[in-house]
Amino acid sequence: RAKDLGGRRVEVFAAQMHAEVVRRLELAADLQRALIENQFAIEYQPVVDLATSRVTAVEALVRWWRGSAFVAPEHFLGPAEDTGLIVPLSEWILRESCREVAAWRASSWDIGLSLNLSARQITAPRFVETVAEALEESGLPASALTLEVIEEMLVEDAEETISRLSELRALGVRLAIDDFGTGYASLAFLRQLPVDMIKIDPSFVSGLGRDETLTLLTRTIVRLGHDLGLIVVAEGIERPEQLEKLREMGCTRGQGFLVARPMAARGVDTLMRTSLQSAL
Ligand code: C2E
Ligand code: MG
Ligand code: MG
Ligand code: MG
Repeated sequence: RAKDLGGRRVEVFAAQMHAEVVRRLELAADLQRALIENQFAIEYQPVVDLATSRVTAVEALVRWWRGSAFVAPEHFLGPAEDTGLIVPLSEWILRESCREVAAWRASSWDIGLSLNLSARQITAPRFVETVAEALEESGLPASALTLEVIEEMLVEDAEETISRLSELRALGVRLAIDDFGTGYASLAFLRQLPVDMIKIDPSFVSGLGRDETLTLLTRTIVRLGHDLGLIVVAEGIERPEQLEKLREMGCTRGQGFLVARPMAARGVDTLMRTSLQSAL
């Protein structure tokens, strides 16, 4: 009896595993097709200077409409990384966003571009050359581009990754540590990399004004960043009291749904017109 039950369990497990393998293969095939059929889009989330409320940069965030269903990056970036499709996808995002931001800058709007890097992209052949080409083609100055990495990327292929990032920095590109405070190598990381900016993870920002420890930690990170001469960006600002606390702490920049949601390029066009008008 028990044996029968065990056999049945193995069967159910095998069927589930089979379904999972099929699902992954389908996703991989769909991703490949999506790339060919231009199903990807880029949204831009404004980043503001907290002292002046001026938009200083936009962060490019990839979007995938699989037919009429929206698939969140967290669901397809892993498979894209595993299949290597992340490399051509990232190259498209790089070229497209450089082009769009260069066009906004050509309308005399002084904004920068932040891009998220994938681990596989950094170690891909010709990565540094590709970034240089995208800057050249678009006319975007290197100093207007910030590349965001997470701490985990330095654990695997650490030497190669650091050397690629240092080459980019030598081009004049800025480097940021995204989701700062969540990785385990935070402080060592700051010494190894020529970093310009840290982005405080929303898990700290969420507790501002509600949780004493998280508020204290946020204050400490802001101070640490400033003592190291870095630009400090707070991510995931959703409530007015968070904004208030961050301003009081002297945090440089902010990003979050309260400030602005990620938006299509057309939305940024509108934002630019209002920004330029209000600056007059
Ligand atoms: P991230 O780089 O830390 O980006 C911030 C994420 O938080 C974005 O999610 C953004 O939509 C979301 N967000 C912004 N403000 C708020 C807020 O106030 N509240 C909440 N709850 N969320 C907020 P998204 O677009 O789903 O991206 C998730 C992650 O996927 C990104 O985290 C980044 O690690 C990765 N990613 C997104 N686009 C790209 C890309 O083009 N290339 C690579 N390699 N990774 C990307
Ligand atoms: Mg980011
Ligand atoms: Mg982040
Ligand atoms: Mg993240």
